[in-house]
Amino acid sequence: MNANRQKITPFHGGLHLDGHKQVSTQTPIATLPVPRQLHLLVPNNAEVKIKIGERVQRGQALTHTSNNVPAIHASSSGTVCSIAPHAVVNRSGQLLDCITIETDGKDESVEPLASLSPTTDNKQQCLDRLRECGIVGLGGAGFPTAIKMDTDKAIDTLIINAVECEPYITCDDMLMQEQASRVINGAETLAALLSANEVLIGIEDNKPEAIKAMQAAASDVETVKIVIVPTIYPSGGEKQLIQLLTGKEVPSGGLPADLGVVCVNTATAASSFDALHQGLALTERIVTVTGAGVKKPGNYLSRLGTPIGDLLDYAETDHQVYQQLRMGGPLMGVPIQDTNSPVLKITNCILAEAEQTQQAEQPCIRCGDCVRVCPAKLLPQQLYWFTRATEFEKAEDHGLFDCIECGCCDYVCPSHIPLVDYYRHAKFETNNIKTERARSDRARIRFEEREQRLERKAAEKAALRAAKLKKLKEREAAKETQDDKQDEIAAALARVKAKKEKNND
Ligand code: SF4
Ligand code: SF4
Repeated sequence: MNANRQKITPFHGGLHLDGHKQVSTQTPIATLPVPRQLHLLVPNNAEVKIKIGERVQRGQALTHTSNNVPAIHASSSGTVCSIAPHAVVNRSGQLLDCITIETDGKDESVEPLASLSPTTDNKQQCLDRLRECGIVGLGGAGFPTAIKMDTDKAIDTLIINAVECEPYITCDDMLMQEQASRVINGAETLAALLSANEVLIGIEDNKPEAIKAMQAAASDVETVKIVIVPTIYPSGGEKQLIQLLTGKEVPSGGLPADLGVVCVNTATAASSFDALHQGLALTERIVTVTGAGVKKPGNYLSRLGTPIGDLLDYAETDHQVYQQLRMGGPLMGVPIQDTNSPVLKITNCILAEAEQTQQAEQPCIRCGDCVRVCPAKLLPQQLYWFTRATEFEKAEDHGLFDCIECGCCDYVCPSHIPLVDYYRHAKFETNNIKTERARSDRARIRFEEREQRLERKAAEKAALRAAKLKKLKEREAAKETQDDKQDEIAAALARVKAKKEKNND
């Protein structure tokens, strides 16, 4: 390590917010008891490999790793009692397929897999292991880590995103304070997998204890640098952090790998280490529980699938005090409709909010405040007008898909316009239109190919018929010639015979 003299390149816009972080960092991470029931979300396109009634153990894969979808695992031992739609926190509010396990209190685990190391084992084997152990981005995006690592671009820099910039959330902060070596081991492991030359770990300056612990843990690792970044939201946005640490801007529609950079979250790095070196599947995560009415705010190591209600109860939450619950932070979090919804791999925080944040929407007064804070350098009010007018193509031309949904524009808008909701709707509609267009394009191409195939077949048949006819005619012509010759021979023989008879007379 790690003199930490990395130059910081500020990004445009952003917000200085009250962090409310101290509330949940006063006590060590507590371990939540295994609940009576676990509800494990089955990812889209995943193929379930267990049956109702089957006994499972902690760490046992419940789905196959086909279609690039990382597996999910039983997070304690027990019996599978249903595979059915269940309440899950998501923006659509739809029930989603979950595997429910009735736990048996024994908490038995399967044997860990053999240890792998990217320095000695084959890269593909390591990527397969990350899938097999269910490793995804734990910062909130849930993107499969194996896909991120599986780049054919030359990667110079691995960035560990330890910024955790949204107010209230402190799970990564506490992870670094208590398990810094595990995070550093994970960073080194992933850097080896990418053959990256350096690791930059970006931490906001409002986490002095985590910075101290990480600096100590990385003190003898030459390639790892702890970089302290100013506390400004959303420094933890992938593109924003890359700009802060490297000065490079990820182009619109481009990927960090195009710049020779890969960025992963702190807890993801730690879990990747567990998967590769310890052979352990992802079955638990740290969740911050904080906010209004939470009497024991803090961070809780929770088994995946634990009902959110259990977490709130364990943190002694007074349900009369808060107005709404949110999974995640106050700007990007998703409202919780049902406390029976489970802890997911992406559940970093359960926030109890004292007030309903949504106020009555007023007309846009074109103040331009949203433009000033947008870290993606977009024109949020323009995107809003296009979306309202259902001019989605124009919104896309104005960078709709570069919007990281950080909510800075929402936060400052004096007219309380839920701008991000408009952008999400526009993205959803645009994607639907694209999917529909792609589907009809595929149908048109299939139709044209079929027509061409039929035309080709008809032409081939006609050519075959013509060739047969030609052959037949040639055969008939040859036969006629033959017949003519035989007639001539017969006539000549008759003439000879007649001549002979005449001579004999
Ligand atoms: S902040 Fe709100 S009112 Fe102001 S320009 Fe943007 S959308 Fe309009
Ligand atoms: S939500 Fe999108 S448009 Fe609004 S500030 Fe963030 S990036 Fe800009």
